[in-house]
Amino acid sequence: MLIIGNGTVLTLGQNNRVLQNGAVLIQDTKIQEVGSTADLLKKFPKAQYIDASGKLIMPGMINSHMHLYSTFARGMDSKSKPPKRFKDILESLWWKLDKLLTLEDVYYSALIPLIDCVKTGTTTIIDHHASPKAVTGSLQIMAKAAEEVGLRAAFCYEVSDRDGEKIAWEGIKENAEFIAACHANPNSRLAGLFGLHASLTLSDKTLERCREAVGSLNTGYHIHVAEGIEDLEDSLAKSGLRVVERLNKFGILGPKTIAAHCVHVNDEEIEILKSTQTQVVHNPESNMGNAVGTAPVLKLLERGVQVGLGTDGYTCDMFESGKAANILQKHAHADPSVGWGEVPQMLYNHNPRIAERLFSGKFGELAPGAWADVIIVDYIPFTPMNETNWSGHLLFGVSGRAVETTVIDGKVRMINRELLGIDEDRIYARSRELAQKLWARL
Ligand SMILES: [Zn+2]
Repeated sequence: MLIIGNGTVLTLGQNNRVLQNGAVLIQDTKIQEVGSTADLLKKFPKAQYIDASGKLIMPGMINSHMHLYSTFARGMDSKSKPPKRFKDILESLWWKLDKLLTLEDVYYSALIPLIDCVKTGTTTIIDHHASPKAVTGSLQIMAKAAEEVGLRAAFCYEVSDRDGEKIAWEGIKENAEFIAACHANPNSRLAGLFGLHASLTLSDKTLERCREAVGSLNTGYHIHVAEGIEDLEDSLAKSGLRVVERLNKFGILGPKTIAAHCVHVNDEEIEILKSTQTQVVHNPESNMGNAVGTAPVLKLLERGVQVGLGTDGYTCDMFESGKAANILQKHAHADPSVGWGEVPQMLYNHNPRIAERLFSGKFGELAPGAWADVIIVDYIPFTPMNETNWSGHLLFGVSGRAVETTVIDGKVRMINRELLGIDEDRIYARSRELAQKLWARL
């Protein structure tokens, strides 16, 4: 039993409460009680106690679209002119990097951002992976990294035709085997999705094969949708259909499917996303960085589509993603009044609902029965904080680096900024060696 107390508890969830001098009682992997610190300490005097001393106690964050494999791009010199179009960014950076990854690179590329997630208060990620020369076993080795760091993670391998039929086929097998293994050994911290790169790198034949491979596996797809205008142009040229229409024709959409980006979608496509209950994930920093346009997230939300928030590998810090989403919508609409409700909705309501479609149990809330994914944030409110203004406190007052304690699945993974059970120096040293070797192979 563990009590985290003496802080400002922000429960979030449907019955969101802000409790001064509040505490959370954790039993095994779940939250058992939320109440006043004095009451819980009196009731459970033998419980282990973590003193949050006035700071914020809240649910861990969720990243609904991530690329752990992008780690070794940090500081990489491509020695060529900066790419001008989105497709050039894929070709000159990501499709060069991912082809060089070995299984050991994949493992360390995963460990580093997973550690960063713990440090910045992200307790669940939904990843999208590519390593065309090391496909088989890549998802299992990432699952091993997630297990070691303690994060909840959903993995998939991005099938694509860009490296030929053999590698596409390996990707299909890797997804199917990983999903089957997840089903055979249910684990509340691990899930599998069927990964697809994007419509522009997938032929009709490969899409058919993917659908056949999914067969009776109870799973959804994780795919980039209409991220750059090239995806739309390609889909129209290939099929006469827009991207969402084409994917719908192949049965790719549905309640468990994640459609990342959806920048270039029209009203009819939004209706399809809604009627199929497909989940959209917005990645504001990535969209701005790649200059692909602004996703119509306000319209998607207004029409009733579930829209979560991700980072697309840009960062591990979901507080940062929330800040970017907020200013992007205001800037794009030239209207400072928009986004106030929608961004917290994506981050603190839709992201947990997305996680709940992939994993078992209750996410994103400090309430009895929910997963014990809890963070302590070094933020002592200097103006009143309550049930109506909490999101303004988080938006303007909190960043991932303010997180000092992270508990996942009831296990303390970081306390007072000290990681437990992780030899960070050794991991970083090996990562630098591997990155150096990979850069030399470029
Ligand atoms: Zn992505």
